[in-house]
Amino acid sequence: EKFRDGLSKTRQSFSEKVNNLVKRYRKVDEDFFEELEDILIESDVGVTTVMDLVEKLKDEARTRNIKDSDKLKDVIVEVLSDFLTKSKDETKLNLNPDGLTVILMVGVNGAGKTTTAGKLANRLRNEGKSVLLAAADTFRAGAIDQLQVWGDRAGIDVIKHQEGSDPASVVFDALKAAKSRHADVLLCDTAGRLQNKVNLMKELEKIKRVINRECPGAPQEVLLVLDATTGQNALNQAKLFRQASDVTGIVLTKLDGTAKGGIVLAVRHELDIPVKLVGLGEKINDLQVFDADAFVYGLFS
Ligand code: GDP
Repeated sequence: EKFRDGLSKTRQSFSEKVNNLVKRYRKVDEDFFEELEDILIESDVGVTTVMDLVEKLKDEARTRNIKDSDKLKDVIVEVLSDFLTKSKDETKLNLNPDGLTVILMVGVNGAGKTTTAGKLANRLRNEGKSVLLAAADTFRAGAIDQLQVWGDRAGIDVIKHQEGSDPASVVFDALKAAKSRHADVLLCDTAGRLQNKVNLMKELEKIKRVINRECPGAPQEVLLVLDATTGQNALNQAKLFRQASDVTGIVLTKLDGTAKGGIVLAVRHELDIPVKLVGLGEKINDLQVFDADAFVYGLFS
């Protein structure tokens, strides 16, 4: 249901176009596939992914001898799902069963890192885990207060220093607090000024070094937060972050605010990093574990 509601904009534009296409073409031919390519590109699936997708569809149509367009629609659903997940467990967060799990949130300003950190902390807490937040975005004005608001809302403590202080030392203190309190999960918000790439990347490396030193094997997750409404830009940002840190999963935010939900496909296919969570609104419960089948179903129903 959440997916259905959150994806209403994408669904309206995408499924209506596909349904119209299926109505206009009873039989599948080259023109049909060309129009399908256009629809996918308009939904921000990205040219490379569209080409691969349509190639796969043509293969399937040929092997299964499908000529009717409405029969092909089922295959479209199947192929889209396949493109969205490479393995069943890939959307699961990698949580340390024997102690502290450290999760780093990275991404550019405005992508939704702080919001997602708050939502995720709340979600993990509701699953029975003891959670702590670290306000290591000491750069963006208001980020620390904003995280505190989320912490208050969820009843989760926030470890923080003053604005402008060294983020690695915030994380250091947060790790100490997490250990002494025997917390299950420490979630670290970080800064995202992409205009100063070298510094940003150095800062992330320093944070990771501190985590590694204090907690061998951590961070268990480096979640890259991407704003779905920025379409192909999100993809380019992701490529930069992937170079700088070992991103273990993607959180795609603001899917509710865009008709271009097709970006999920491009992210999964071109980056080869699993999409683990999606943001479908601004409220505390508007964070969902990514479910490829529900997503594709949400697009068509
Ligand atoms: P940060 O700079 O990366 O920490 O970004 P913020 O967490 O401050 O988020 C930027 C804006 O995006 C805020 O106004 C959030 O309320 C909004 N936002 C974040 N996630 C979502 C989402 O999934 N859906 C919608 N509609 N808005 C979101």
